Amino acid sequence: MSGPRQYQVEGLVLAHVVVGEKDKIVTLFTREHGKIRAVARGSVRPGSSLGPCVEPLTSGRFYCVRRRSIDLIAQATPLASYGSLKSDLWRMACGLYMAELVDSATAEEAPHPALFDLVRDVLERFDYGENSELLLRYFELQLLDQIGFRPSLQECVDCGTRLAPVENALSAVLGGALCPECAMHVPDARPLSLDALKVLRLWLGCGLDVALRVRLNGLLASELDAHVYRLILSVLQKEVRSRGWLRRLKEEDSRLSPESVAGEPSVDNHH
Ligand SMILES: [Zn+2]
Repeated sequence: MSGPRQYQVEGLVLAHVVVGEKDKIVTLFTREHGKIRAVARGSVRPGSSLGPCVEPLTSGRFYCVRRRSIDLIAQATPLASYGSLKSDLWRMACGLYMAELVDSATAEEAPHPALFDLVRDVLERFDYGENSELLLRYFELQLLDQIGFRPSLQECVDCGTRLAPVENALSAVLGGALCPECAMHVPDARPLSLDALKVLRLWLGCGLDVALRVRLNGLLASELDAHVYRLILSVLQKEVRSRGWLRRLKEEDSRLSPESVAGEPSVDNHH
């Protein structure tokens, strides 16, 4: 990174690795510079003032010093520690999954301020007690858009025909929806229901408040989950490890969000 020797950033701790006996290398997602890595000297020591600020899923203002090898976090002021989120296994798993997604999907020193704001907003929702999986689906889809992989959902991604209001298909490899004819010769095409297409279109174009108003039954929720994760996998080219933990938690206490169990599909018909 060029610029002054000392700089300050607003950042969220995505991950950390303990090195030696008392130091940590911290991965920060910052509003100003995107993802950066920096060392937090002595932060593992009991009583270190830096320690609580460099725990995963903690946001703060970080005062850093540029160094040739790896920048140094000289000081930090906590902004949010998401204590309520961390007191609940499911919501913490959701937060860590988001952190891993951001870590995997962004390059170092590539700023994504809109994605930064979205991560913060979604974490706040989880921290307030919202536990809907819709938050994750909306976040995954918006993340794809922010990193340049917005799925194509208006025209067939293969032949360019405008999609008819019927059951179409989705190809993660081609990055979008397919008309029924093209679906027949695209190997990774999977059926895409009209309701799923409507929800995906809505989520790509709306804010968090509107996104959470969508009501899904279990079937539609599973369909959306599978489609969006296939798009993610196709972009990342690797599994998101913490997703396994999320799935196990979900199986164990089958704590589905109210949206996932209630009634018939009802999609706000804005599009
Ligand atoms: Zn087509």
